[in-house]
Amino acid sequence: MATKVTIAPFEATALDIIPALASNARGTFRTHKTKSLEWRLVQLRKLYWAVEDFKPQLLHALAQDLHKSDYESLLSELDWVQKDCLFMIDNLAAFAKDEKLGAPHVPITFSMMNFRIRKEPLGTVLIIGPYNYPIQLVLAPLVGAIGAGCTAVIKPSELTPASAMVLKELIETRLDNNAYVVVNGAIPETNALMNEKWDKIFFTGSAGVGTIIAKKAAETLTPVCLELGGKNPAFITKNANLALAAKRLLWGKTQNSGQVCMSQNYILIDSAVVKTFIEFLKAAEKEMFPNGAKASPDLARIVNQRHFHRIKKMLDETKGEIVMGGQMDESELFIEPTAVLVNSTDDSMMVEESFGPIFCIYPVHSLDQALNIASSVHRTPLSLFSFGSKAENNRVLNEMTSGGATINDSYFHGSVNSVPFGGVGDSGSGAYRGKASFDCFTHLRTVAETPSWAERFLSVRYMPYNIKDLKFLQKMTAVKPNFDRRGAIVKGFGYWAALVFGLGGKGAKGALLRWLFVLASGYAFLVAKEARRA
Ligand code: NAD
Repeated sequence: MATKVTIAPFEATALDIIPALASNARGTFRTHKTKSLEWRLVQLRKLYWAVEDFKPQLLHALAQDLHKSDYESLLSELDWVQKDCLFMIDNLAAFAKDEKLGAPHVPITFSMMNFRIRKEPLGTVLIIGPYNYPIQLVLAPLVGAIGAGCTAVIKPSELTPASAMVLKELIETRLDNNAYVVVNGAIPETNALMNEKWDKIFFTGSAGVGTIIAKKAAETLTPVCLELGGKNPAFITKNANLALAAKRLLWGKTQNSGQVCMSQNYILIDSAVVKTFIEFLKAAEKEMFPNGAKASPDLARIVNQRHFHRIKKMLDETKGEIVMGGQMDESELFIEPTAVLVNSTDDSMMVEESFGPIFCIYPVHSLDQALNIASSVHRTPLSLFSFGSKAENNRVLNEMTSGGATINDSYFHGSVNSVPFGGVGDSGSGAYRGKASFDCFTHLRTVAETPSWAERFLSVRYMPYNIKDLKFLQKMTAVKPNFDRRGAIVKGFGYWAALVFGLGGKGAKGALLRWLFVLASGYAFLVAKEARRA
């Protein structure tokens, strides 16, 4: 990019103004202006253009913070957010529309009450972001918050300071500054924010910090959406396309230098194919980095020295064998995509979330063993990947849960901006992206409207009670089960009628069969009646 870019040095927000910023955002919500759809659309349109106009600064910041290539920054951060804005703009009217509630939700006897679901903004929300996708992971939830009609305070990660400063300028100069504001800083600033009352906290980050946030939020009954990390397994059986599995899983650990919450931590692979798989991995690495990973302009770097040493320690302490990669250079925060062959769940490579370009390969003798290991390492990971036959892939999906899953690839389930994304259990709760982003910040408020003229139908509810009225009401509103006490379906008249009318298909043969059945039933009925009379 030719444009000359200057980014202000990182400056934390003064602790003493944080309560006023939060209070201002709450006050703005109380003006009700965010409830206007047109107001929200204008903010979303402005956000779209702000990302466009700030592209040089954003690309520069991402390169400075993470050595991200423009290619990756555009693909997975800036284009992503712009697509989010357009998706929300295009669909907002439909998402925000009242939902009329008819049958089967509302019995026909109550249809006069005009039951509906009104989509209400939750209020003022706090969005806390991590460092790995410092733009996307705060602006994508913000799109949801704006769409839903919430005001928001955004706390980007302090580990990506240039991105945090550009975000502050972008949001505060382009959006309604009374509704959307950025607080920059680390733990003290986050703690100050956590002392405020929010209508929802949207947190993306580690499980450890997520626990702190959830505990604190619980004190004020504040709902949270937790987008956490975890140790994600990949399963490879003898029936997999090994070359493809190697290439795709390696991709998962090269994008953003593996600093991706969804990428695999470890691969459980049938021992019969492990050697071949490693050969394919090496070939894939050579293909992606013909001059070596370090020389590649495409590979991001580790965010800082602390994380560099965290990842290095995992490699230093492993008892496994490095079978691909292993190079590193602290001066550049460079770590080569690295695979380690291990044979124990206690290995340092299995114990920690790697959140970097390293992963391990664990040979197993069966899918049973693989599933047992995966469940013991992390019961509810954020992602899982399965490379096997259709039956094997189905078995993996059926027997192990995860936030999302991809069959025959790395994290494709998380690569499309408009499908729901979120963790489960220890990897988080709540989802966003696409319509889920709108829902995440929306309260589904059920509204009923009882017409005055309905009073005579409602007299049954008033005291003094009369048991005859109740019996009448029960008759009018009764629903009967189609199952017995053993849980079996009772084959009543409806069942046989459906069966008869489904007999023989649509053609002339079917019609003839149905008529024959009706005649036979009628005849049997008459015979039985005669027999009873005699
Ligand atoms: P982190 O939990 O260290 O930090 C996240 C945010 O919390 C930052 O804004 C930080 O300032 C704040 N924070 C840190 N310590 C805090 C404390 N003690 N009290 C209050 N706030 C605190 O996470 P990270 O290192 O930035 O990101 C990496 C983690 O995030 C990994 O575990 C990764 O798997 C996870 N992650 C999850 C997703 C997802 O969508 N599920 C996406 C990206 C990253």
